[in-house]
Amino acid sequence: MDTDPNCLFCKIAAGEIKADLLHRDEWHVAFRDANPQAPFHALLVPVKHISTLDDLANEEGRLIGDILLSATRLARENDLVRGGYRLVWNCGPDAGQSVYHIHLHVLGGRRMAWPPG
Ligand code: 5GP
Ligand code: ZN
Repeated sequence: MDTDPNCLFCKIAAGEIKADLLHRDEWHVAFRDANPQAPFHALLVPVKHISTLDDLANEEGRLIGDILLSATRLARENDLVRGGYRLVWNCGPDAGQSVYHIHLHVLGGRRMAWPPG
């Protein structure tokens, strides 16, 4: 199944639910997080429904590479490179994944702590 009719991020990727879009192509979309944890907080989401990173198949390596490059481009476009930024993929309950359609967080614009909470 390439999309899940009950999935929030499938609906955002399809344009059925509105989001503040930063990028769209055939394979993935980027939009601002509705509950930002930093001055800049975007999510990059494949159009294809993939529940967790653990569900990725070998042939999806290109898709993931494109999303990663898109994240670094967004960081450049939004002036995050000098200060630095953080990319986060949460996988499963212990990591705090709350939407089960994979997404890459891009966070920047403030100093961040390590280790993460
Ligand atoms: P997770 O906790 O699964 O790694 O991240 C899910 C993210 O999705 C959270 O940061 C949350 O704020 C964001 N989010 C949840 N619902 C919506 C929504 O309807 N619109 C947008 N733009 N972001 C959302
Ligand atoms: Zn989905």
